[in-house]
Amino acid sequence: METDLLIGARFEQGTEAEEQILNPKTGAKILGLAEASHGQIDAAVEAAERAFTTWSRTTPAERSTYLLRIADAIERDADGFASLEALNCGKPLHAVRNDEIPAIVDCWRFFAGAIRMLNGPVAGEYLPGHTSMIRRDAIGVVGSIAPWNYPLMMMAWKLAPALAGGNTVVFKPSEQTPLTALKMARLLADILPEGVVNIILGRGETVGNALINHPKIAMVSITGDIATGKKVLTAAAKTVKRTHLELGGKAPVIVYDDADLEAVVAGIRTFGFYNAGQDCTAACRIYAQDGIYEKLVADLTSAVSSITFGSENDADNEIGPLISARQRDRVSSFVERTSEARHMEVTTGGQRGPGDGFFFQPTVIAGALQDDEIVRREVFGPVVSVTRFKEPEQAVTWANDSDYGLASSVWSKDISRAMQAAGRLQYGCTWINTHFALVNEMPHGGLKQSGYGKDLSVYALEDYTAVRHIMIAHG
Ligand code: NAD
Repeated sequence: METDLLIGARFEQGTEAEEQILNPKTGAKILGLAEASHGQIDAAVEAAERAFTTWSRTTPAERSTYLLRIADAIERDADGFASLEALNCGKPLHAVRNDEIPAIVDCWRFFAGAIRMLNGPVAGEYLPGHTSMIRRDAIGVVGSIAPWNYPLMMMAWKLAPALAGGNTVVFKPSEQTPLTALKMARLLADILPEGVVNIILGRGETVGNALINHPKIAMVSITGDIATGKKVLTAAAKTVKRTHLELGGKAPVIVYDDADLEAVVAGIRTFGFYNAGQDCTAACRIYAQDGIYEKLVADLTSAVSSITFGSENDADNEIGPLISARQRDRVSSFVERTSEARHMEVTTGGQRGPGDGFFFQPTVIAGALQDDEIVRREVFGPVVSVTRFKEPEQAVTWANDSDYGLASSVWSKDISRAMQAAGRLQYGCTWINTHFALVNEMPHGGLKQSGYGKDLSVYALEDYTAVRHIMIAHG
């Protein structure tokens, strides 16, 4: 197993405090990994800065070739990456291998193509005797910080557009899930020129904090909690750094009376609980209209109680545990507080799973009201709440009454009603009669406190490049 940081062309161990990497399925230690020192963080930033001079001047076609090689190399070692990710995150192996890895490979390939196709306003004489043209140039060294829910995928989402755009990167994975990033370090060092990507390890408050405050970092890209995003903004204000923020979500799922109930139940069973609900787009905040509410709660309860987890035979598992004991206890405390409120009912689940792993039972909470904590705060676990509404207008108002603005869905057979609701929802994405599906060609990103960074699509390339105007006077 790879354990070294990548600094320029050097592989070396961190020299500071050791972080314990745990197997979430058992709670057992996998290994300890020392975090980077200030000297190592500086060295990584300086290596990226040196590499920027040449990397930013490569042609899109050259960078595209590198990205395609990276995609091919991940694909060749798909089983190795999948098993390491499954080990570190506790995910079912088949989910990583069949769902995540193909999307990751495709992400690298998408940006390899997209960088050759940038477009914008045409060059021309907007002032007589002067020709104007638009450029999109690299920004500089990007400090890139990832969360623990999809480590290798978040790495692809962050690195591929940043590198395609001509930037160099210092990447910090979550301190809880660094194993696939360390494996990627070897792969990237074999393919890319020295210093284009550097990988350092450490906790948020130490290494992450040093990175976001580093004077030579031109842009910070982070996926994480709202509180962390606010710290990034405070640090960025000092030197007016560019920021790319992907912060949490609390996705509303509006179910009208005329929705296809079977599809809704199957959809929430999958999209509310995938990755044990540790997903910023998870279908977790359900608003069900009066006429469908009772049947939806009954059918969803029964469907969710059949979700399989914790089996010795991994192929049988639909979901894994939570990432840590801390996260499991956090989820558990949300459910305990809802149980104390008389008007809500835990219709299935609600307890820790058996054993020493960090499992929590898939849980449905019925009778939640708009002002309840379970409706307002991100749980980031296998828990969905169901709230009853009467008038269609009410559902959209409640859905928008949130600090979050990442993802949402509307379920109805009446496409005109669904389209009207979709038009009024203040979310980066609204799905109609589905939820959760992402494609590399379309943007993923939020509004409000969910942040404003766009991942995937040409919009990510816009975020990771600067628009510049060149004007030539020619008499
Ligand atoms: P987190 O904010 O605790 O950590 C995310 C990353 O930020 C980690 O690498 C961490 O080390 C680092 N970090 C923490 N404090 C820092 C600081 N002071 N300075 C610099 N870096 C710091 O979040 P998490 O617990 O790893 O992930 C869960 C959160 O991420 C959830 O809120 C989830 O919704 C969000 N998320 C959002 C998206 C999205 O696309 N919007 C995707 C995945 C996860």
